[in-house]
Amino acid sequence: MEKEAITVGVLALQGDFEAHLRMLQQCGVQGREVRTVQQLREVDGLIIPGGESTTIIKLMQRYGLDEAVRQRAAEGMPIYGTCAGLIVMAREIEGYPQQPRLGLLDVAVARNAFGRQVDSFEVDLPVPRLGEHPLRAVFIRAPYVTRTGEQVEILAKLDGKVVLVQQANLLGGAFHPELTDDLRLHRYFVEMVRAHRKQQ
Ligand code: GLN
Repeated sequence: MEKEAITVGVLALQGDFEAHLRMLQQCGVQGREVRTVQQLREVDGLIIPGGESTTIIKLMQRYGLDEAVRQRAAEGMPIYGTCAGLIVMAREIEGYPQQPRLGLLDVAVARNAFGRQVDSFEVDLPVPRLGEHPLRAVFIRAPYVTRTGEQVEILAKLDGKVVLVQQANLLGGAFHPELTDDLRLHRYFVEMVRAHRKQQ
C-alpha cells in the first residue's frame, strides 16, 4: 500500500532546526520550517528543536505559536521536543517557576542538569522500543526529567536519569539524535505522525 504523504514541521525560530530537517529528508519525509501560525496549520506533526528554551518560548509567544501549538496538541497532533524543546513542552521547570512554557508534557525537568563541567557528551543509549541496538545520542547542556505523571511512559534512562518520555502524541528527549546518523527516533516520530494522519 502506498504511504500517504505527510509533512512534518520543524519550529524554526531558534536552535538547530536545520539538522532536524536533514534527518527528515533522510527518512524520506517532507519537512517544513514553521515560523507562523499559518505554517503550523499546514503540517501534520511538529518538532521543537534544541537551542535556548527561554528564547524559543519567548519567540513562540511573540508569534502566537504557543497557543496555536497547545491547540494542535489538544487535537492530537504529534509533537517531539528535543533538549530545549523538551523544556519548552514540560509542565514544570525546576528552579525556574517564572519561565514560560507550553505545559503539555506532564513532567518536571531540570535544566543543564548533567552539570556545567560536563557541557556535552555522546553515548550509546539503550532505548528498548527502538530495538536491541542502543541509540547514538548527543547531550549538550542537557536537561533531564525529574518527575513523570501517570500518563507518561519512560522510554530511556541514562545513569538512572529519565531522558526520553512519551505521553500519547507527545514525545520528549533530553538529547540530540539529529546530530548523529541514527535515524530511528525520527522514524519512530514519523510513524506517530502517519498514524495520527490516518485517523483524520
Ligand atoms: N540548556 C538549554 C536550555 O536550557 C538547552 C540546551 C540544548 O537544547 N542543547 O534551554
